[in-house]
Amino acid sequence: MQEGETLVEITTATICGSDRHTVLGRRSAPCPSVLGHEGVGVVRTTRNPDLQVGQRVVFSVTAPCMECDRCRKGMTAKCRKFKKTGHEAFDSDWPLSGTYASHIVLRNHQPVVVVPDLLPDVATSIATCAGATVMACMEQAGALTGKRVLVMGIGMLGLIAVEAAVRGGASEVVAVDRNQTRLEWARQLGAVVPAPSAAGADFELGSFDITLEFSGSEFGGATCINSLDIGGRAVLAGSVAASPTYALDPEWLVRGWRAIAGVHNYEPRHLEQTVEFIADSQIDWDTVVSEPIALEDVPVEVRATPGIFLRATLHQK
Ligand SMILES: [Zn+2]
Ligand SMILES: [Zn+2]
Repeated sequence: MQEGETLVEITTATICGSDRHTVLGRRSAPCPSVLGHEGVGVVRTTRNPDLQVGQRVVFSVTAPCMECDRCRKGMTAKCRKFKKTGHEAFDSDWPLSGTYASHIVLRNHQPVVVVPDLLPDVATSIATCAGATVMACMEQAGALTGKRVLVMGIGMLGLIAVEAAVRGGASEVVAVDRNQTRLEWARQLGAVVPAPSAAGADFELGSFDITLEFSGSEFGGATCINSLDIGGRAVLAGSVAASPTYALDPEWLVRGWRAIAGVHNYEPRHLEQTVEFIADSQIDWDTVVSEPIALEDVPVEVRATPGIFLRATLHQK
């Protein structure tokens, strides 16, 4: 192992929807490679002076260089030379980059957070992609106290965002999704759910101070932008594939003090925040993820049509 690297034995990994896109050819990725970028595990060997053997850790989806202009500006999420967990070719200099494996090697400068034993494995694993990305979105959204918040798309990110908005002091959190079971989970966390028929084209939601877009759909993006109230802020995180473009009226933006932000990947602080967030989470993790599967069943699982569950869980041990 190189200086700064750590060998982690994976105890639990969770299957993020983006890996399904990769396997089904909707997103390009090197092949062969070890997929999987959500996981938690135990340090077995380390050349990172900040870590010790036996510690339970989570790690960032991005391993930044810490030398380029973006890293120096604090934008490590968009490092010019970053490597990504579960996205690297098996014949590259980072063959063991993924969590669908017994072990992963963490790179020099890859952010790592030591996690308390009390946190459930599944929630902790989910923190590394969905959880931390939501924390980055909430930072972009800004103060929530007394604000009306729209969460578009109740996948894993949307569900965590509902809880973050409720806990952040929003006056009302409205959740939108086509799946009634997911909406019920959002409702249990404090969200208001529009009538089932409202999820069609004639959608009347009113206006919002904060809109959070996780669906990646044309409807979701357009609604999050068009329903912004005066001073409103839209945070878009779902559009990670080629998406329709929108016409934007600058006068509407200017006179309305409105803002639109995008979030992709996250900074190390967001990983730390999500581990703290999960410690007090009311999400029923055992309900919102499917039954654990074995590592050898991953190839079948990632090709399967995802059901209502927000993550498939992979128990290695
Ligand atoms: Zn992911
Ligand atoms: Zn960099």
